[in-house]
Amino acid sequence: YHFYQIAVMGPAGVGKSCITNKFIRGVFISEYNNTLADSQIYNYEHKGNLYVLDILDTAGEEDFIALRTSWLNQRQCFLFVFSVEKKQSFQDLQQFFELYIQLYPKREKPVVLCGNKIDLEKREVTQKEGQELAQKYGAIYFEVSAKEGFNITDSFNALIDCLEKK
Ligand code: GDP
Ligand code: MG
Repeated sequence: YHFYQIAVMGPAGVGKSCITNKFIRGVFISEYNNTLADSQIYNYEHKGNLYVLDILDTAGEEDFIALRTSWLNQRQCFLFVFSVEKKQSFQDLQQFFELYIQLYPKREKPVVLCGNKIDLEKREVTQKEGQELAQKYGAIYFEVSAKEGFNITDSFNALIDCLEKK
């Protein structure tokens, strides 16, 4: 099997924990609090291959740049998340990309960008804006909903496919 270490990163409240739980447990847990960073092991099958995924759902001290750097250093690939109903989260996420590109100017580690909460009526970030941000940093963009389970598996699959190509 392959062992991959993933970090789910992004501003607070965008749905990182919901995305992680939906992917691993198949359920939407609307209120989930973790302290700092929870790592969960998930045995996963994709395209006939077995994977052991170590998924780090980051949280809490999201303002501490030092932690972001160590998460970016420790993990092989990243799911970056913002919420399409909150422009601020989209703007804040750019700092994550800035840090990422500083550490990995050649984009050695794959990133999938998720615009979450597309089930909501309210929308402050367009699909085009999401795509353009992803493109700027060589990431793949998905519009997702942890609540409805839309594109969650596809996002993780895309990340795995990127790692397989390396
Ligand atoms: P985190 O801080 O990034 O881990 O965010 P959470 O996963 O804790 O989610 C923050 C809030 O957004 C919670 O109240 C969730 O119920 C809500 N939420 C997360 N994902 C979705 C989604 O896809 N759709 C909707 N409508 N709400 C969501
Ligand atoms: Mg969380």
